[in-house]
Amino acid sequence: MDHRLLQSVSFWTFLLRIDKQFAASAWQVGCPCGGRLHRADYPRKPQGGPKGLPRECMYRLSFCCNREGCRKRVTPQSVRFLGRKVYFAAVIVLVAAMRQGPTPRRVHELTRLFDVDSRTIARWQVFWREEFPQTAFWKVERGQLALWVELGELPLTLLRAFFRNGAPDPQENWGRLLSFLSPITLTGGLKMEVSR
Ligand SMILES: [Zn+2]
Repeated sequence: MDHRLLQSVSFWTFLLRIDKQFAASAWQVGCPCGGRLHRADYPRKPQGGPKGLPRECMYRLSFCCNREGCRKRVTPQSVRFLGRKVYFAAVIVLVAAMRQGPTPRRVHELTRLFDVDSRTIARWQVFWREEFPQTAFWKVERGQLALWVELGELPLTLLRAFFRNGAPDPQENWGRLLSFLSPITLTGGLKMEVSR
């Protein structure tokens, strides 16, 4: 798995364009109360990206309803931000996946490549192994994915699914993989379903 793409500024501006499309759709739908949405982006300090990212890449796109008495927040799904996690979503996918497979990369190597400490990597592994599989999103989508790829360890399985069957352009594959995951970036998207 090649990590160099994630170190290019153009990759992150590409993902920003996808987020802008999500935001445009959310804006068109408007607030459930019928009010109009105004831009009210959240400043973030995402980590794991290259140096010199444009400021625009550091904001989670979001809106506020303009109607007095409502003022509801509408935050569209994102291919860049995974809930309140500090690191970019693609980094959380890639680093955890690089610890898997027949030749897992060593923690200290990943620490150096992505400027992330070993405890954070361990937390991501727990997230993919124990938390993500319990989300309502995955319980539905795993069936779809199982049609085209043999399900194995997460998140390596996701990379295999989207890169093996995807477009030859890795950037496009990342776009599709992160768009697939983006419902979990909505409020409540990471909530775990109570098993009965
Ligand atoms: Zn409203």
